[in-house]
Amino acid sequence: MTNILIEPDLLSRLLDVVGSENILTQISKGFQDFQKDMGDFESNPRAVIQPTNTDQVSIILRILNERKIPVVGRGAGTSLTGATSSMGGVIIDFSKHMNKILKIDTTNWYVHCEAGLVIDDLNEELSKYGFFFPPDPASTPWCTVGGVISENSGGMRTFRYGTVKNWVLALNVVLADGTKLKLGEPLPKNRVGYDLVHLVCGSEGTLALITDAWLKIAPLPGAHGTHIVKKFMVFFSNWEDAVNSITAIRAKGVQPNLLEFLSKEAMNAVNNAFDTKIPEYDAILFFESPIDLLPEIIETCKTQHSVDSYIGKDEKDEERLYSARALLLLGIKTLGSGVYNEDIVVPLDCLGKFLDYVRSVGLKYDLKIPTAGHAGDGNVHPTIVFDAESEDSRRKADHAFADIIYEAVRLGGSVSGEHGIGSQKIKFGNYQLRRNNGEKALDLMRAIKQLWDPNNILNPGKFIAEDTAN
Ligand SMILES: Cc1cc2nc3c(=O)[nH]c(=O)nc-3n(C[C@H](O)[C@H](O)[C@H](O)COP(=O)(O)OP(=O)(O)OC[C@H]3O[C@@H](n4cnc5c(N)ncnc54)[C@H](O)[C@@H]3O)c2cc1C
Repeated sequence: MTNILIEPDLLSRLLDVVGSENILTQISKGFQDFQKDMGDFESNPRAVIQPTNTDQVSIILRILNERKIPVVGRGAGTSLTGATSSMGGVIIDFSKHMNKILKIDTTNWYVHCEAGLVIDDLNEELSKYGFFFPPDPASTPWCTVGGVISENSGGMRTFRYGTVKNWVLALNVVLADGTKLKLGEPLPKNRVGYDLVHLVCGSEGTLALITDAWLKIAPLPGAHGTHIVKKFMVFFSNWEDAVNSITAIRAKGVQPNLLEFLSKEAMNAVNNAFDTKIPEYDAILFFESPIDLLPEIIETCKTQHSVDSYIGKDEKDEERLYSARALLLLGIKTLGSGVYNEDIVVPLDCLGKFLDYVRSVGLKYDLKIPTAGHAGDGNVHPTIVFDAESEDSRRKADHAFADIIYEAVRLGGSVSGEHGIGSQKIKFGNYQLRRNNGEKALDLMRAIKQLWDPNNILNPGKFIAEDTAN
């Protein structure tokens, strides 16, 4: 990857805005942390800027827009799709300074916080008031408010609480030309104007940079007299019985807080990497539910031939069950030098058929594809393991990746439920849009991008960009 050196006059203008302690260039200590993300996508930024406030973000964008230099907002870089690759431009890192909670309002049930705040830090503070921010991507120890909004992230609790966009009330953003703008209101209801807040949610930093947000909060389960919840696992000797249990639970109208699927291969990888000591059955369903629903869920699974179940003994033990699922990707990454993590959604009535198909793709290309995911919403993560040093292995993995996506779309599913498109899936995202929504929908989206960012400086070449690059 070619490194582009920052122009001396540009550097000097940016230094005037944020000071030398808040700019990293290729010779700076810590610069290499921004040359890769957690999806192993490489990056070649001209510089990394670490602003302390919205005014600085505004001036920086004005300067970069004048020169048409790409700008990529960055939280923790846990994106798995190349969304934070710098495209030779400048990375704006919100995590160093812009990470504060500005207000917790327990009457109106919102928190106002800066974009670089880490989700676990937010929840730790909220828990002191008996509240929490429910969306929980498995990356919450690192990922930030700005990142989860820009990715409209999901997670294990999406089944009950929805994705991040369901929890965003209002945003302060900076447009590509440096204009500061407030979108929405921190109110439970607001019917004024087009809903620009939710246009920005999930836009992967292509429309505006978020500096701070008003997020809805909810009472922490077990606090304020709400139901106590329990985490537990149910074990099966085959995938079909597990999938039938999900269908049966849904048909009864029973709604756990989370409902996750883990294959034996996936569980084995996590157990080996992190010593989580979970029994390795062919299929596992992992639940969190209010305690009064627990017997009905376990009984329903028994009618579908579950072979055993395990209820977390205490908080620490429940945390072990939760982390066994949360550590999934990191566990699978230990299986090979390369992994492609899929993020497929299929209609729930097709889940069994789709999981069978994934297994057949593994056999076809002789690749390990441990599979797990948010089965309650039909969102699963087949993760293709390959040898990154071998051209042949990588080529097979590329084919497997595409086969799985095309089958999902054929079944009425989606290319991505939560991880987004980034640079990795542009071809497939555009394919789904053209096939299901039509060229006009894509045209409309590109017209929106053009209006918000006429010079195409905000995260160019990603999301809905032309698919020439991949
Ligand atoms: C182990 C692991 C598990 C994961 N599990 C899940 C999961 O369960 N569910 C899920 O949805 N995702 C998951 N992810 C993916 C990832 O963590 C999420 O997409 C997360 O929201 C990214 O947050 P971040 O702060 O790291 O953002 P980054 O990776 O830094 O950025 C992500 C995108 O947001 C943009 N962005 C960041 N900050 C701003 C800002 N202030 N303004 C404008 N744009 C901005 C970036 O330009 C980029 O396009 C997982 C990742 C890992 C490594």
